[in-house]
Amino acid sequence: MIPVNEPLFSNREKELLCECIDSGYISSEGPFVRQFEETFASYTGVKHGVAVCNGTAALDTAIAVINLKAGEEVIMPSFTIISCAMAVVRHSGIPVLVDAEPETWCMDVNHVEARITPRTRAIMPVHMYGHPVDMDPIMAIAGKYNLYVIEDAAEVHGAEYRGRKCGSIGQISCFSFYANKIITTGEGGMVLTDDDNIAERARAYRNLCFRPEKRFYHTEPGQNYRMTNLQAAVGVAQMERIDEFVEIKRHNAALYTKLLLGIKGIQLPVERPWAKNVYWMYGILLDKNIGMDATSLAKELKARDIGTRPFFLGMHEQPVFHNMGLFKGERYPVSEEIARQGLYLPSGLTLKEEQIEKVCNALKEIMT
Ligand SMILES: *Cc1c(COP(=O)(O)O)cnc(C)c1O
Repeated sequence: MIPVNEPLFSNREKELLCECIDSGYISSEGPFVRQFEETFASYTGVKHGVAVCNGTAALDTAIAVINLKAGEEVIMPSFTIISCAMAVVRHSGIPVLVDAEPETWCMDVNHVEARITPRTRAIMPVHMYGHPVDMDPIMAIAGKYNLYVIEDAAEVHGAEYRGRKCGSIGQISCFSFYANKIITTGEGGMVLTDDDNIAERARAYRNLCFRPEKRFYHTEPGQNYRMTNLQAAVGVAQMERIDEFVEIKRHNAALYTKLLLGIKGIQLPVERPWAKNVYWMYGILLDKNIGMDATSLAKELKARDIGTRPFFLGMHEQPVFHNMGLFKGERYPVSEEIARQGLYLPSGLTLKEEQIEKVCNALKEIMT
């Protein structure tokens, strides 16, 4: 079976993990946590990094530190992972959705301003599958209405928007280092910000809001979202090769595109002139007129020993939110179509060129 995604390790991860064990620093108290925060923040071009236990916790922390009040709204794409909307709901806020843009599959920035109300507090653009959101219009709207921009950059380590790294544009950004992300710590996440005050609040929030001067006295609610020194050690080792990982992703994507170009009925990923796409996942979209959806294609590929994963299902189609009275009767046609017609092909860092060729040949056979 050709796996959908696999991380790439060297002896360096093992070496640094052994250092944790030998030194006894296995919790969040160890030195690799700060080192990983500093390395990753400076790579992304942001002042502060606050490491947390996963990307979902990073989003939750971002919503906590802007002090979202009950009933306040955060605008986000429908087409995303549930972590975004859940972060808002957990703080009694209301996620407000916009549709996806049909080629980059990112939120359609033309729909954002119409969704603003007096209760809007933030916009949460989600860079999708490696491609940046068109950030200038988002920043302009946020400036006009005095809103926070929280970038979900969990899928775009190293990607660029007009020469700036994704995750360095909004006031806050959130990353994940789950096993399938561009660099991994197994499970892990980070909140980045240039704002000293937001960084301090995020550090307190991830550590139960202990107060340095009066340890077991709490004035604000916090969470235990700490990252361990073990996780951070893996992160530090992974950071030594992040540029190489991004190059592998881009190289594999270019090969896919070369081999798949011209097959009728398949839409391939794009790279806007202002974007550096890191192709976290190489997604394809089946034309809805060819009478095959992503589920059937995934079955055909699986029968040929090729792993795939479906695209996200829109937030407005999730029973969990309908049961909370959210998004009832709302329609986002692009999100609905790409959820059914999209899947991603094997995109791991260990993928061989012969495997990419095998996937492309299988696709040609199935499609003709
Ligand atoms: C992976 C991912 C997350 C969640 O990260 P976890 O570490 O799995 O909690 C959030 N947002 C996006 C866009 C993701 O792809």
